Amino acid sequence: MNAEIIAVGSELLTAERIDTNSLYLTAQLNDLGVEVTAKAVIGDDRERLAGAVRAALGRSPIVILSGGLGPTEDDVTREAVALALDRKLEFHPEIVAQIEERFARMKRRMSEINRRQAFVIEGAQVLPNDRGTAPGQWVEESGGVAILLPGPPHELKAMFERQCLQRLRRIVPAVVIRTLLLRVTGMPESDLDQLISPVYKKYVNPVTTILAGNGDLQVHLRARCATVGEAETLLAEVGAPIEALLGDKIYSRDGDALEVVVGELLHKAHATVAVAESLTGGMIGERLSSVPGSSRYFLGGFITYSDAMKIELLGVDPELLAHFGAVSRETAEAMAAGARRRANSTYALAVTGVAGPETPGDRAPVGTVYVGLADAEKAVSFHRQFLGDRPRIRAFTAQMAIDLLRRKLLGRP
Ligand code: ATP
Repeated sequence: MNAEIIAVGSELLTAERIDTNSLYLTAQLNDLGVEVTAKAVIGDDRERLAGAVRAALGRSPIVILSGGLGPTEDDVTREAVALALDRKLEFHPEIVAQIEERFARMKRRMSEINRRQAFVIEGAQVLPNDRGTAPGQWVEESGGVAILLPGPPHELKAMFERQCLQRLRRIVPAVVIRTLLLRVTGMPESDLDQLISPVYKKYVNPVTTILAGNGDLQVHLRARCATVGEAETLLAEVGAPIEALLGDKIYSRDGDALEVVVGELLHKAHATVAVAESLTGGMIGERLSSVPGSSRYFLGGFITYSDAMKIELLGVDPELLAHFGAVSRETAEAMAAGARRRANSTYALAVTGVAGPETPGDRAPVGTVYVGLADAEKAVSFHRQFLGDRPRIRAFTAQMAIDLLRRKLLGRP
């Protein structure tokens, strides 16, 4: 079964306000096994909205409208839906009494304009609003339903949960939704898709979605079936070959972030880590320390931007710096070894590179990055050439460095 959502309000067509209600409603509908096939944002225009409602009901059995139920002239949702369904609006005095009572509880008098909120579309069920004045409406029409909900998110949520969920469950066929989430790093999104699309393209169910940002990739598989058993079997059938193709590029199967996974590996190995950061300026330390309990394995970090600080805090040899430059394999390794020595940790990560937008002096091009990784035996380094702007290069560098530590801890550097 599918649904459409219409967010009503001219303010939602400006750069000032975002329609977040539809995100909430989509998640709720998906949980019921209902697919959202279209969303629209329509300004406070009765005819235009009526046209959108008519079209949506022509395509989808469930149409949810949010907003435009207020007392003012520009609140047109009631009128627009009545127009779309060719029904009258009926005045319900008991709704006025309820709104008056609500005002009385706040020691205020109801304004006359609030009477507009007492108009109900012929044949509609009224949905009480515990959190505001605007009642919602549930209007059935030739096998479909239009659901009118108030715009303020806390009112909409309460009304949806208390008044709509049960009613929707009665009309939506029971489906079970199970998802598999694989979190992946160390490859571009296009490579990932090329690798796994031959598997997932064979299936309409589960639906596969790939999300990517700053070197972090997520593969979501969503199976919709009649029973839990069927959904799990289907996910295993499609998930297994995808997992085999991705191998250790998958860092988590339960939604955990990379820094959480690395933290667990460090903790299990009774190991500790310190960081020395140049171009990331503390981003790696921030991510590692964002995990509750990270004090068990994260000792701390050095933000060494200048050459002088690299020499002073990490003990990097000034001659080495002068000879190879700050952005070099040798410096990354010396920074990692120095951080490990000074922090007395099991491992140390170090990053140096050019975040841009300009290349200072005769240094390497923007996006050149070296990550050093030291343990008790030696320091090694890895080179990458990233593309993009400064925030992207910095974020990719932090991701790559944390992943290198993960691979080291798995014995696959
Ligand atoms: P009320 O009479 O209680 O104001 P209403 O149904 O008339 O209810 P609107 O006037 O359309 O609601 O919106 C009220 C406020 O709710 C808006 O100013 C905005 O802050 C918020 N809002 C409306 N629609 C959305 C939406 N789709 N997503 C997020 N917030 C919204």
